[in-house]
Amino acid sequence: MNRKINLLHNMRKYIVAGNWKMNTTVPEGVALAKAVVEASKDLPANVEIVVAPPFTHLAPVAEVVKGTRVKLSAQNCADHEKGAYTGEVSVAMLASLGCDYTILGHSERRQYYGETDEKLVEKVKLALAGGLKVILCVGENLDEREAGKHFDVVTAQIENVLFHFTAEDLKNIVVAYEPVWAIGTGKTATAAQAEEIHACIRSVIAGKFGLAAADDLTIQYGGSCKPSNARELFAEKDIDGGLIGGAALKADDFIAIAASF
Ligand code: PEP
Repeated sequence: MNRKINLLHNMRKYIVAGNWKMNTTVPEGVALAKAVVEASKDLPANVEIVVAPPFTHLAPVAEVVKGTRVKLSAQNCADHEKGAYTGEVSVAMLASLGCDYTILGHSERRQYYGETDEKLVEKVKLALAGGLKVILCVGENLDEREAGKHFDVVTAQIENVLFHFTAEDLKNIVVAYEPVWAIGTGKTATAAQAEEIHACIRSVIAGKFGLAAADDLTIQYGGSCKPSNARELFAEKDIDGGLIGGAALKADDFIAIAASF
């Protein structure tokens, strides 16, 4: 594709990940995973496909995706290695199930469960040390956007978390830009709105870690992404895939999005 010509190193991966959130029973999740595996067979090889089911589904879904091109992600992990943290799930537990990734810092976790940037630094450290890749979510809410603070908010989220890491660590980190006002609302950011934030994220990363690290970083867009708008979003030069919520619950829609590159 044309835009690849602009890449310095050509290492950047296109990644489409489905965040199932707290949806589906275990049998429904297994059926969805099977449908995703089947439908993903015909996708071009340069697009990585990831599914992120609830914790309870990870073991059976790991069996479904084993040996296929579909990667497995958790939606969160604990901020401690192990011990007396009732109800929490550690990185070691996730890795032992065969998870490749964990999503961290999703706006629903920031908003409803008090996830702070400080906590995220700990979680990202644990995830990387435990062999998981991270999909780190950032994004402004509606008030912040309307106040014209979106660049500042996203820049601060990137600095507060990623500046604690190295260019080497960044090879195992994906950033997902998800404007909170677009998540689950049916209101998608325009391709131009998304692109200007993606470009800003890349330049913040370039300033700290250098051009090569910035160029290789996968930056996904998330927020009411669907088959009808994915192509326009993914055509932007700094949009390298999607973190998909609602549309990831239907294998056909999810794969149609992944086929939009
Ligand atoms: C998400 O929550 O990560 C998301 C992008 O949700 P939706 O696609 O439903 O807006």
